[in-house]
Amino acid sequence: MNIKFISRNECISCKSKNLKILNSEFFTSENIFNYLQLFYGDNVKDLNLENQKLEYAVCLNCSMVWQKNVLNEEGLEYLYEILIYAESSLNKRESGSYNHFYSYIENAKRVKYFYPDRKPRDIKVLDFGMGWGHYCIASKALGFDVYGCELSDVRIKFAQKNGVKIIKNIKECEDNYFDFINTEQVFEHLNDPSIIMKEFQRILKNSGIINISVPNSLKSIKGLNSPDWKPSNNSLQPLQHINSFTPQTLKSFASNNNFINITPEYNKQISIKTFFKEKIKSYISTSLYFKKSI
Ligand SMILES: [Zn+2]
Repeated sequence: MNIKFISRNECISCKSKNLKILNSEFFTSENIFNYLQLFYGDNVKDLNLENQKLEYAVCLNCSMVWQKNVLNEEGLEYLYEILIYAESSLNKRESGSYNHFYSYIENAKRVKYFYPDRKPRDIKVLDFGMGWGHYCIASKALGFDVYGCELSDVRIKFAQKNGVKIIKNIKECEDNYFDFINTEQVFEHLNDPSIIMKEFQRILKNSGIINISVPNSLKSIKGLNSPDWKPSNNSLQPLQHINSFTPQTLKSFASNNNFINITPEYNKQISIKTFFKEKIKSYISTSLYFKKSI
């Protein structure tokens, strides 16, 4: 295993090198290491944390916040496959509240806001980073032609047992294939999110739509300036939540990658109440829709 840290020295959104460090501490400091050991267990030491710093950078050009030093691919695989025990993640998901499952159905239903006159079976949907496949199962139940993309073999097997069509690697997708891409709680984890946005540009049909949902970091970023800042399982979580978006930086990130923010137009799939709710959400939320602009 070749677990290493790599440094992201330019803005992950606008590529500017004009950045400021908001908080910098060694991973092996008491403050950080105690948290990591409690959260990931003793094997966290296998991540070769010595002499590496947890650093939060802010872009002085576009305000994006990201963790500068992140694990390489091997490190991420070890983190997500070994340190985060897959079955406990599934148990957590499956024993979650009914509301959680209901939210997958609600999300999947929203695809029709954008295609009010088309039959669901004629709408091709991709869930990128599908995890255990719950969104895909909900979307399939509503009749959409849905595919799930995921790296983890154990998650793929689980989803396949539930009838989900799998794409192992996004590079295998045909050009101009999908109408809609859903990606939920994924972009905060990616070392190079722009590469995935380029793939989305390629595999979406003209004027195809994506829904990106990430944790809202507006409050937690303000807390970074405090001298007694402590790591926690929030949107700045060390090693995992390496990109921290706000409603504004999510929009500029999409725009830097040739996607424009949209809200659904009033149509027969949408009640007036929902229509206004969607308009307000676009100012305060980090679950937003974007349309391919080139
Ligand atoms: Zn920037």
